[in-house]
Amino acid sequence: MTTPSNQSSISASLDHCAACGCQLTGAYYTLLDSDERYCPQCIDTRPRCDSCGAPLGPHYWQLHDGRLQCPRCHRTAVYDSELAKTLFDETVAGVVTQLSLTLNVGVEFRLVDVPTLQSVRSQDLRHTLAGYERVLGLYQRQGRLRVIYMLYGLPRLLFRATVAHEYAHAWQGEQCPLLSDDRLREGFAEWVAYRHLLWLGCMKAAQRMLSGSHPYLPALRYVLELEQQMGIPGVIAYIRKAE
Ligand SMILES: [Zn+2]
Ligand SMILES: [Zn+2]
Ligand SMILES: [Zn+2]
Repeated sequence: MTTPSNQSSISASLDHCAACGCQLTGAYYTLLDSDERYCPQCIDTRPRCDSCGAPLGPHYWQLHDGRLQCPRCHRTAVYDSELAKTLFDETVAGVVTQLSLTLNVGVEFRLVDVPTLQSVRSQDLRHTLAGYERVLGLYQRQGRLRVIYMLYGLPRLLFRATVAHEYAHAWQGEQCPLLSDDRLREGFAEWVAYRHLLWLGCMKAAQRMLSGSHPYLPALRYVLELEQQMGIPGVIAYIRKAE
């Protein structure tokens, strides 16, 4: 799963910029994820939070692999590997309860940094064809070893949605290993993440998945159309048989 590219929208107000604190007298920007407002100069020139894309103010965190994190993302960020494992297990259990996507062979979990994730990813030829994407998580099978790698320091909901997405790929690896249609592969994984957010009661976060400009959004929309036609069990049965 990759990060959404944060689209900004423009409006007018007399408020303050959340990054530099200047008074907003004319146009300002908001990002999809929050109600914060930013002046045009901060949108153009400030470094951005690697998790949410917001322009960074005077206070932010730098992770050891170079990523920058805003205070809002830092508040719920998953840095600790034990906490990460607990959230991973809860997410998998949630997906199994909600959608019955069980695995015959389990999948291991690793919390990693950017260089590690990139090196794992570069071993997989399929991904090198996909072009530039900022990767948050990855499922990989190497012989008998099946692993979901997750980037440390992601905000909690983004972490859970990414785990659900990658877990869906692990399930596809068992149930429909020949599935090569990218729209169905990625659309289904996004749909599992979307359904998981709804299952958690996180309506806003789920809604955000439908309103951004994420490269997988058309694929998610396609699977949601399938769901309208055939229902949730129908989608799962359809993916199982797809190629
Ligand atoms: Zn994917
Ligand atoms: Zn500003
Ligand atoms: Zn952030």
